[in-house]
Amino acid sequence: MKKYLFGLSAVAGLALSVQAPAVAQQQFVSIGTGGVTGVYYPTGGAICRLVNKNRKEHGIRCSAESTGGSIYNINTIRAGELEFGVAQSDWQHHAYNGTSKFADAGAFDKLRAVFSVHPEPVTVIASDSSGINTLTDAKGKRLNIGNPGSGTRGTWDVIEEALGWERSDLKLAAEMKSAETGQAVCDGKIDAYFWLVGHPSALTQESLATCDAHLVNVEGPAIDKLIADNPYYRTASIPAGMYNNAEDINTFGVGATFVSSSDVPEEVVYIIVKAVFDNFDQFKKLHPAFANLDPAQMISDSLSAPLHDGAVKYYKEQGWM
Ligand code: GLU
Repeated sequence: MKKYLFGLSAVAGLALSVQAPAVAQQQFVSIGTGGVTGVYYPTGGAICRLVNKNRKEHGIRCSAESTGGSIYNINTIRAGELEFGVAQSDWQHHAYNGTSKFADAGAFDKLRAVFSVHPEPVTVIASDSSGINTLTDAKGKRLNIGNPGSGTRGTWDVIEEALGWERSDLKLAAEMKSAETGQAVCDGKIDAYFWLVGHPSALTQESLATCDAHLVNVEGPAIDKLIADNPYYRTASIPAGMYNNAEDINTFGVGATFVSSSDVPEEVVYIIVKAVFDNFDQFKKLHPAFANLDPAQMISDSLSAPLHDGAVKYYKEQGWM
């Protein structure tokens, strides 16, 4: 049955139509992403654009959906309602191992890595009037900690515990979606927002260009310990001049990864991976956060779930594995 769905010539399709319904000629796949002003949404869009270019050949129609972010995407893949998603490497790790926020649901052992994408540093944008110059200055302030279901929010919960803070240590723990946070800082409704995102990103750019706001360092002993204790965290920096920052911003972060489920057929994943890597120069141009991507790293870094068989097939064909 699976074979009917992909790469059939029109003639073969007709011959098989006795057994397979005509609708099987077209396969829809959805990629769960994040807020529209983040980097996940354009990442899903870039992948789909390359896949859809050859839609007539392989019969797959790809669409990118704006969602609540990493944890929502993983849970929705698990429920069989999304074929693919973008997810932070820390939450990929916990979902596959059934740890942290995934302890109650148990290990998602069908979770599969496809490739990693851009780095996602922990990014804090504070209004100039907030008095926040390093993450720990946010104590007693109004901070957006991310919407439930976002990887951002999950990682905030981890950082909060590492700092030894209670939720009540913030004057306001706002739970807005990323797309709403820039305006909230500009309007003085919150002092700062926290998120994990690739750079440059549209929202970060817009906030720093249109409000009196600045990026904040995220460092100190509690952060050093988090990095030392967990394989999916690493030090990171946002380079001087990327936005309105005269100096490098020191922080830490994770990787954005592209994931799926072993229930998604090998042929489908192969077609998606081939579309990206056969057109890699074009892919890299589709978002400035992709500028430094390198296939060798993308198929090994930040991945803790096993690679999907369809991805392995393509990587082996290329001699990358
Ligand atoms: N890392 C964020 C999350 O999972 C999403 C970032 C983005 O939208 O680019 O919540």
